[in-house]
Amino acid sequence: MPAACVRAMKYTGMIFRPPFEARSLLLQVTVGCSHNKCTFCTMYRDLEFEPEELSQIEEDLKEAQEFVPDITRVFLENGDAFCLEAARLAQIAEMVHAYLPKVETITMYASVKNIRNKSDDDLKRLRDLGINELNIGVESGLDETLSFLNKGYTAEQAYTELGRLKAAGIDFDANIIFGSAGPGKSEENARATAALLNETKPYLIFTGTIHADEGCPLYDEMKSGRFKECTFGEYLDEEKLFLSLLDLPGCYYFGLHPANVVRMHGFLNRDKERLLAEVEKVRAALSDRLDERPVRVSGEGGIIF
Ligand code: SF4
Repeated sequence: MPAACVRAMKYTGMIFRPPFEARSLLLQVTVGCSHNKCTFCTMYRDLEFEPEELSQIEEDLKEAQEFVPDITRVFLENGDAFCLEAARLAQIAEMVHAYLPKVETITMYASVKNIRNKSDDDLKRLRDLGINELNIGVESGLDETLSFLNKGYTAEQAYTELGRLKAAGIDFDANIIFGSAGPGKSEENARATAALLNETKPYLIFTGTIHADEGCPLYDEMKSGRFKECTFGEYLDEEKLFLSLLDLPGCYYFGLHPANVVRMHGFLNRDKERLLAEVEKVRAALSDRLDERPVRVSGEGGIIF
């Protein structure tokens, strides 16, 4: 087909996706994030949240049908597409299957908050429509940290809502943030977060470390010195304890974010000893810098070693 015939699918602002959705069709169903208040997040700060028009979504699906008719996985954009009401998500899922009949999985970013506005029957219906493997910023299992990050839910609510999601057959990937409790709280954070994940059983854990770009409250907290990052030693202690406490056979541990002190990945529990050895290898390499705090590049928060 000549390039001139291809109308661009509609995307508003910067489009984000998890690294493992590189081969998925990215379909915009909302603009921005309905919460947009997490202390550390600048992703959608300048965008006003609104659901995308169904007519626009259908136009985009018609176009996708032309150039990726055999696609099997769709990632719904943007920041927390699972905030949409169950009836609207069901309508979108039905449209996806009508235009792209080979799609098996429809996934998206979601928040613990987004599960609360859906009944158990809603969740089961959405699972029946192929909605699965949601990417959820769980971040921490500590109440005071969730409050500091301004996530909009408590640890108890995370236990309840993630449990309801799993009971409906919907798997999720848990993003967690080392160092989010700050120095001196690494052990507490590791224990609380591992306990939450052991109970709610994500199929994948995506690890990161706390960092902030200009334009969010955490940046100001860090700049003023009111919030201090952990040292390399504290990050290593937190990850070692967290990993050692996890008991999640078959769960994929994805720790390749450039913001991480240790970059590694593998399957739990099979590769746990190898992953723990990676932590010790980095500790040995940084043995004379364990009291230093990381220096980062802006953007993804990559650490300069
Ligand atoms: S971290 Fe996620 S839920 Fe929080 S403001 Fe950013 S996009 Fe929204």
